[in-house]
Order: sequence, then structure tokens, then C-alpha cells
Amino acid sequence: EGRETRLRVVLRVRPLTCTETRRGDQQVVHSLGDGAVHVSAARHDATFGFSAVFDAGASQEAVFEGSGMRQLVELAIDGFSCTVFAFGQTGSGKTYTLMGPLAQSDTQPESPALLGLMQRSFTCLLEQSRSRASDLALSASYLEIYNEQIRDLLSPGPPCSLPLRWSKTRGFYVENQLSVEFQSLEAIVSLLLQVPPPTGSQRRRTSAHALNRHSSRSHALLTVHVRSRAVSAHPAPGEGWGAQRGGANSPTAGACPSKQGTLCFVDLAGSERVKETGSSGELSLEANSINRSLLALGHCISLLAKPRGKRTHIPYRDSKLTRLLARSLGGSGITLMVACISPSSRCLSETLSTLHYASRARRVTTRP
Ligand code: ADP
Ligand code: MG
Repeated sequence: EGRETRLRVVLRVRPLTCTETRRGDQQVVHSLGDGAVHVSAARHDATFGFSAVFDAGASQEAVFEGSGMRQLVELAIDGFSCTVFAFGQTGSGKTYTLMGPLAQSDTQPESPALLGLMQRSFTCLLEQSRSRASDLALSASYLEIYNEQIRDLLSPGPPCSLPLRWSKTRGFYVENQLSVEFQSLEAIVSLLLQVPPPTGSQRRRTSAHALNRHSSRSHALLTVHVRSRAVSAHPAPGEGWGAQRGGANSPTAGACPSKQGTLCFVDLAGSERVKETGSSGELSLEANSINRSLLALGHCISLLAKPRGKRTHIPYRDSKLTRLLARSLGGSGITLMVACISPSSRCLSETLSTLHYASRARRVTTRP
């Protein structure tokens, strides 16, 4: 607490897709074990190191347990501001890692083994809230940043843009965002996926284009607010002190102080060149906003990666995304980054850029 801690960065390499295999793409990324990954292609030969590397064979459960996600959930219960974000090119497996495969149809339930980091974390939170001798109140808010506008995915009716403000005590925050309490996995998942009429992730801007039919065109941030109030069965030690200080009638006497933590899941829109995806018109405006905010994020990360003494001003204000992530990147948050890449030779340049980006992020520190 209060000490510097590094961002934890893990890498996930998805398997080659059927299309990639069919057209004979070469596999250019190989896990070497022990957090090392090797990229070998015609003119490239490089090794990168991470806290953990998950290759094509890694299950969703292995990613949950090996990435540190479970600890992050526990830290959120302990009152810290925790963030996990997935980044990488469109089609690299970000949404798969966070939420699992998109349901093929409404009638076919998802296999529990394929559930992503989000559902596993919700389960973990709900289990903790049942087993701990504490009241845990869980609520969620869900936002997207689309074309540099912040929209509330939980509010019914036509999407309207919410103001992003700054205050000394709260840092950057979104005004008037809805937050909904939940007490079961079904409730939070339906919030996330299919609250009727279209809200939640069905409403996230997605549009079909050449790279990925389900490509997400917005950055999505789901925040779970965890409020805990441990109620002790026995009088708390030191209660007498409280009485002496005139706290005898305080409603919290005999209980631990309440804690408020957050667990935020960020599914970043993919970085890709406008040319490659054949985007035009509205799509190219989207791609430009996405690229601009990812560039701003990359810029902040490079500056934050310098030693604290040598840091210059961090331009969080360059985009909505960096403002919303300011605490997670350079403030008092605890952050896990999941970099996602494709092993295919065709994605080589994007893969290398993700790997460099992720390596740089490993030097970023926060003070939880
Ligand atoms: P992104 O969100 O980065 O654009 P997706 O998560 O939508 O990418 O993944 C693209 C495609 O690859 C989807 O069809 C998804 O089901 C598949 N995929 C991604 N990661 C894996 C994985 N680890 N195992 C199996 N299929 C995967
Ligand atoms: Mg996605």
C-alpha cells in the first residue's frame, strides 16, 4: 500500500483460426516457457518476456488462474481500484479472453469451460460475498467510448453522451453514469450481454468489415463497484479507544471500517490500419478515433515507463480513454494487462507492435 508496484503484463497467443490454417499461414510466434515468447519470420527474430505467456493450448481457466486475475478480484474486495485491460489487433482474442466466444445463437448456452475472465471474476466475487463474514454490495456500470464520446450502455433509450469531469478527490470521473446492483451471475451477465431492449454489449458499436465480422469499434469499460462492510461477531479489539474518542454511538462501532474497491474490465477496440480493413466513410472516422486514442494511450505508457524522477508531464488529457485510465496507469490503481496476439505470419507487423507496446508497459508503476 502506497509503495510502487509494476503493472502486470501477460501475453495470450490465440490458436490459428480455420481461415488462417486453410490459406496456409505460417505460425511465427512460439512460446518458450517461463514467460518468454519468440517471434521468428523472414527478417525478424526477437524474444520478449512477460509475467506469463499463454499459448494456443491454454484454457480459459488457465488464463484466469495464471494471469493473477483471482488476486486482482481479492484486491478489489480489499478496497483497491483494480483494472484489467485487453489489447491487441482486431481478431487477436481480446473479447474471447474477457468474455469467451460470442454465443452462436440465443438458444445455445455457452459452455462453462469457455467463460472468460469477466464471468470467472464475477463468480469469484459472488462466492466471496457469500463466504466472507462481511456484507459485500456489488454494483456495475458499463460505458463505451465511441468516436471520442462516452456513452452509458446501461441507460435505456437512445444513446447520449455523458460528460467526463475532473475533481481533486475523485480524479477523472464520468458524470451521471448509471450503476446497477447485482446479486447473481445471471444478473450481471444479462446486464453485460442482452438486457432487453438493446442495451449492454449488444449495443456496442460493431460493424462488419474485412478483418473481423464482430470487430468492436468502441472501447468498452465495465466497472464493478465492491463495497464491503465487515461485521464482526465479537466486539472489535480496541473498541474502548473508540468510546474514549467519543465514538460509542457511532453506527460502525464493532464493525470494521467499510471499504470501497473497484474492478474495471476494459476491452479496447482493435488497432488496425484503415487501409487494411477496407474502411471508408463513417467507418474510417471510427478507425481514426480508435487509432488516435490508442496512440494517446501508447504515448502515455511510453512516458510512464520512464523512471519517476525523469518523467515529464503525462498527457492524459489527450483522449477520453487515457483520462479514464489515468488512475490505472499512473495513479493509485493496480493493473493487469492482457496483450493478445495472433500467431499468423500475416499479422506479423501488428503482432510486433503489440509486443513492443506490452513490453514497455511492464516498466510502468503505480502506487496502490
Ligand atoms: P478481438 O476481440 O480481439 O477482436 P475475438 O475475441 O473476437 O478478437 O477473437 C477473434 C476470433 O478468434 C473469434 O472467432 C474467437 O472465437 C477466436 N478466438 C480468439 N481467441 C481464441 C482462443 N484462445 N481459442 C479459440 N478461439 C479463439
Ligand atoms: Mg473484440
